[in-house]
Amino acid sequence: MPPSKGYAALDAKSSLAPHNFSRREPGPTEIAVEILYCGVCHSDLHMARNEWGNSIYPMVPGHEIVGRVIAAGKSATKFKPGEIAAIGVIIDSCRHCAPCNRGEEHFCAEGPTLTYAAKDRVDGSITMGGYANNYVVDERFAHTVPTNLDLAAVAPLLCAGITTYSPLRHWKAGPGKKVGIVGLGGLGHMGLKFAHSFGAHTVQLTTSLKKKDDAIKLGADEVVLSTDEAAMKKHAGTFDFILDTASAPHALEPYLSLLKQDGTITLVGLPEKPPSVSVFSLIARRASIAGSMIGGMPETQEMLDYCGRNDITAEVEVIPIQKINEAFERMLKQDVKYRFVIDMSSLK
Ligand code: NAP
Ligand code: ZN
Ligand code: ZN
Repeated sequence: MPPSKGYAALDAKSSLAPHNFSRREPGPTEIAVEILYCGVCHSDLHMARNEWGNSIYPMVPGHEIVGRVIAAGKSATKFKPGEIAAIGVIIDSCRHCAPCNRGEEHFCAEGPTLTYAAKDRVDGSITMGGYANNYVVDERFAHTVPTNLDLAAVAPLLCAGITTYSPLRHWKAGPGKKVGIVGLGGLGHMGLKFAHSFGAHTVQLTTSLKKKDDAIKLGADEVVLSTDEAAMKKHAGTFDFILDTASAPHALEPYLSLLKQDGTITLVGLPEKPPSVSVFSLIARRASIAGSMIGGMPETQEMLDYCGRNDITAEVEVIPIQKINEAFERMLKQDVKYRFVIDMSSLK
């Protein structure tokens, strides 16, 4: 393997800085990838700053990876050198429990291995993510990419894409359903595109009215300023399903009041502090609060293929890796349209 270099957080307080490390040679069913693009997920920021309390340093973040295969193990059948491969939030699992056998590796009974800041099942090292020049992964945990899509704009599909596609499919967003998307950020704008593409009446709920025109362009049938009580009241009791992607702590009651009887709000955003909720707002309409996490390998491939057929990718601002700290600050100010993607040629 060529030496690995990337950008790492050395602790919860410092900026990301250049970092050299090494990766193993690919094993029989593994591939080595030269990373071309890596998306910048809000989870990278939560993790770099230890907001969930489980961070390990030095940490090279990044789990929205698109790259070119530079080597393939002798038993690898899915990829050959020169082909494009994509890697998302998990890179391994036990591979034999019931969820793994169903292709729901993200629900592995023994816990999936995360792309960074996790103990690697093969060599015991700490995984280093995609803000780097290369990656080594078992081909089961890598995906093929439809050839008609722009590769920089594909990268965010590997986390933001599957994290919104999966719950919208599971809760059957489609014709005849009124679906709300909370937050127009990286996840939110993909949720908006998918809900619209699946045929649901899609409403973007946002705290930033300046995003209204963009939301309409991206597929929203309506846009509601969630801080405007009168505007929210007009939609009370009308939603079948709401997907909450907000990254910062927020009250759930204003959104619960939008649900129809038996409606569901599914949380995918992971703010530093957990929500508290008034049970009265649930019992009044037999509402459900649910959660969802990324998706398994087959569903991630299904999502990528769906995007290929329907020409769906993320709206991206491509940055050199030297701008990653600025990108983190801008993401916190909700100043991103709608996903930063690092062009890894800037590392050279
Ligand atoms: P992002 O690009 O920063 O977008 C977050 C959006 O949340 C913002 O653009 C903003 O949209 C909205 N928001 C922020 N503060 C809010 C508040 N107080 N009330 C309501 N809305 C608020 O972040 P992201 O990359 O999409 O990630 C979103 C969250 O999902 C993060 O917590 C991340 O860790 C988590 N995540 C979870 C999974 C999973 O598997 N469950 C996977 C990936 C990421 P507006 O300006 O439109 O209001
Ligand atoms: Zn992510
Ligand atoms: Zn398993």
